[in-house]
Amino acid sequence: MAKADSNGSGERHTRLDVVIVGGGLGGLYALHRLRALGMSVRVYEAGSGVGGTWFWNRYPGARCDIESLEYSYSFSDELQQEWKWPERYGTQPQILAYIEHVAERFDLMRDVQLNTRITQARFDPDTNSWSLRSAEGEVITARFCVMATGNLSTPRVPDFQGLERFQGKWYHSGLWPAEGVDFTGLRVGVVGTGSSGIQMIPLIAQQARHLHVFQRTANFSLPAQNGPMQAEHEQGYKGAYPERREAARHTPFGVSGYPAPTESALAVDAAERRRKYEELWQKGGSIGFLTCYNDFLVNEAANETAAEFVREKIRAIVKDPAVARLLTPDDHPIGTKRLCLDTGYYETYNRDNVTLVDVRTHPIQEITERGIRTAEREYELDAIAFATGFDAMTGALREIDIRVEGGPALADAWAGGPQTYLGLTVPGFPNLFIITGPGSPGVKSQMIVSIEQHVEWISGCLDYMREHRLSRIEAEPEASRAWVEHVNAVGDSTLYPQANSWYVGANIPGKPRVFMPYVAGVGVYRQKCAEVAANGYEGFNLTQ
Ligand code: NAP
Repeated sequence: MAKADSNGSGERHTRLDVVIVGGGLGGLYALHRLRALGMSVRVYEAGSGVGGTWFWNRYPGARCDIESLEYSYSFSDELQQEWKWPERYGTQPQILAYIEHVAERFDLMRDVQLNTRITQARFDPDTNSWSLRSAEGEVITARFCVMATGNLSTPRVPDFQGLERFQGKWYHSGLWPAEGVDFTGLRVGVVGTGSSGIQMIPLIAQQARHLHVFQRTANFSLPAQNGPMQAEHEQGYKGAYPERREAARHTPFGVSGYPAPTESALAVDAAERRRKYEELWQKGGSIGFLTCYNDFLVNEAANETAAEFVREKIRAIVKDPAVARLLTPDDHPIGTKRLCLDTGYYETYNRDNVTLVDVRTHPIQEITERGIRTAEREYELDAIAFATGFDAMTGALREIDIRVEGGPALADAWAGGPQTYLGLTVPGFPNLFIITGPGSPGVKSQMIVSIEQHVEWISGCLDYMREHRLSRIEAEPEASRAWVEHVNAVGDSTLYPQANSWYVGANIPGKPRVFMPYVAGVGVYRQKCAEVAANGYEGFNLTQ
């Protein structure tokens, strides 16, 4: 049981076995799983509700780009059988409703504290325990700390000069007002054409008097081919759930039906490749493309065949050749930035009330009282929606002052790039676990597959420690060095590092350029984590 008391200063003090930071999909499952070990566990969540990413990203068109029947928890067969997804790809409200249902169904809310932002975490080596502080003045002490703080949870508006002067309203995709925004009749600017921009642009265009899209880098997007859930599809899926879920855990991206490809794109003739790309385009989704050939993400010539196919599609859809040219990506291999999924994105540029502004040639110089000024001219706007991304993967952790008493902050220890062992633990920071951290496949996988695997690994580890009467676990620096080297080597053997993406921190000025995810595939990774555990937690120092 959690124990709470008040010290002389009136500070609330809570003692636990495990403290979890973050009430998204990762934190909630960690709570469920660790509570089942009989431990006292509590989740601290900054938001006024659970859901993490799906709580904050309420922008128009926010929708998952993995099919809902896949993008859902697999730990409870009753849950996966009873829940009904209305569409092929879940919308933000649908996914949030699902997460809230899970929290209720598994009685999680009694151990979730909302509206509590953790700002500091200190490890005391004498007692082998963490002390966390919240912005609201609470102190939480626990032997173990699980950071379920998310990978895309630190929204970032670029440091444009003059934003405070803007007389209209502005928003960020990742901090969207819960009550929604009505753009009807307004002159709107959207900055950014990543996954978030590409989803919101078609919907904002339907409302706005005029929409200006400020594009720095043209992006590849594929049609989602979304639609209502087909009863037959759902039944077939649910009937085969045990096999499908197990299969997903051993695929490259954690999605069933898409095993590791064995054929090279260059081993088949152009007509056959075309047929395949067309079939995938019609079917919808991005994982089919990413796993269509075994050299799609490692060989430039192979990659170019798919890139050119998509470029042709853009040229066919967009009527104005000059606009089509601007929308055609030519500076990175397809799939090396997150491959976007859309509903009517390119078609939106055929509307009379939509203008594409090239801010690569003429960068945004400042925000004025009336709108956005680029190097070319000023655009008058009533509202601006920033879809400019996040301080991804490390941002949320760097924002918390995490350190061992007297030692360096995690943010400083990671100044040259994140140092983890398995993306789960950090050398020099005992009894600290990260869910889907840098150096794990997290963001390059179906997140919930990765979340479940991490939580189950952590839960196995804590059970093992209890059984062996151990109170401290710490990654060995050498094991971490070798792991980071391996993560980099795998990344460097692919085309991923060629793109200026958030995977390499390129969107944050001053962030070290390191390719952070582990891209050998969730199957390979899972096996590695299982081996480490089976070998008595190889690469860790465990002490009493
Ligand atoms: P993002 O992919 O980082 O895109 C940010 C966009 O803002 C880019 O187009 C970027 O241009 C632009 N930008 C940034 N700074 C700028 C500046 N100073 N001037 C002009 N443009 C600027 O962010 P996101 O779209 O929010 O997506 C982040 C990730 O969240 C995705 O990759 C995906 O993993 C996840 N996500 C998933 C879904 C889904 O499941 N459907 C939806 C939304 C987000 P550059 O490319 O030139 O940097």
